[in-house]
Amino acid sequence: MEIVHTIHEIRDRVKQIKLQDRKVGFVPTMGYLHRGHLSLVEISKKLSQFQVMSIFVNKMQFNDPKDYANYPTDLKKDSAMAEEVGVDLLFIPDDAEMYKNNLVYVDIDALGQNLCGAPRAGHFRGVLTVVSKLFNIVQPDVSVFGQKDIQQAVCIQKMVNDLNFPIKIVIAPTRREEDGLAMSSRNKHLKKDERANAACIYRGLQKAEAILKAGERSSQAVIHVIEEEIRKGNPGSIDYISVVRYDDLSLAESIDGKSVIAVAAYFGTPRLIDNMIIDFEDGRVRCIY
Ligand code: AMP
Repeated sequence: MEIVHTIHEIRDRVKQIKLQDRKVGFVPTMGYLHRGHLSLVEISKKLSQFQVMSIFVNKMQFNDPKDYANYPTDLKKDSAMAEEVGVDLLFIPDDAEMYKNNLVYVDIDALGQNLCGAPRAGHFRGVLTVVSKLFNIVQPDVSVFGQKDIQQAVCIQKMVNDLNFPIKIVIAPTRREEDGLAMSSRNKHLKKDERANAACIYRGLQKAEAILKAGERSSQAVIHVIEEEIRKGNPGSIDYISVVRYDDLSLAESIDGKSVIAVAAYFGTPRLIDNMIIDFEDGRVRCIY
């Protein structure tokens, strides 16, 4: 596995790969890798012949400087994990390489302003700006994102459609710990009791699936069972439990088409997110989480 730090180097390398008619897959990350990140590379390997991963903690998408300062990093371990899963080229730029007096941004209207966008003004502007820069730098054929950050994935898919990026976006399922907690770099900050409590989000989603499969379609009823389960397990505050339409992430009062139930809750200081996609096949409900 090669590691490069500059835009110039990665462009040169990808140009050579494309001349060999090999498709380039790309997994952008902020590092502190776990099996969730690696599963994205596994999917990308099925769709392309050369794997690029980036590690860049993008200051622009953090609205809390403390959160940015505390973001965990371990480049040595990350490099070993990336190599083992089959990454061919690891791109690790620094701030100066990525942002030189940046004055142009990519932003999104409605989709980026509710759920995680509401309390974090400018978050999705930061995400879309860095992802569009990375797309222009790497020029991949395929790029894989996690369902765990569903609002991010939907916003990126919309950006690619609206701005005509010639890139196939794939949304990969959420990888979980044994008790159901979604893997996340931020889980490192959970204290022992918070970690034990944190699987209550997953249990809430399971309860929601059960009542949906029994025929419930009211968003309020679904939100209620999730809230009950989270409150049982977690003394921290719930940021939101929302049911939204998949396509435009607008609030849905009832679940009658492809939808997302999205949850964000605090377990001590860490704020954890999770979600479930609800789809219908031959009138039967299918829950993906
Ligand atoms: P991050 O490093 O948190 O910016 O995440 C990089 C990519 O990994 C994003 O596309 C995330 O959605 C994805 N990701 C994070 N956690 C998981 C997980 N548990 N399962 C699958 N993908 C994940």
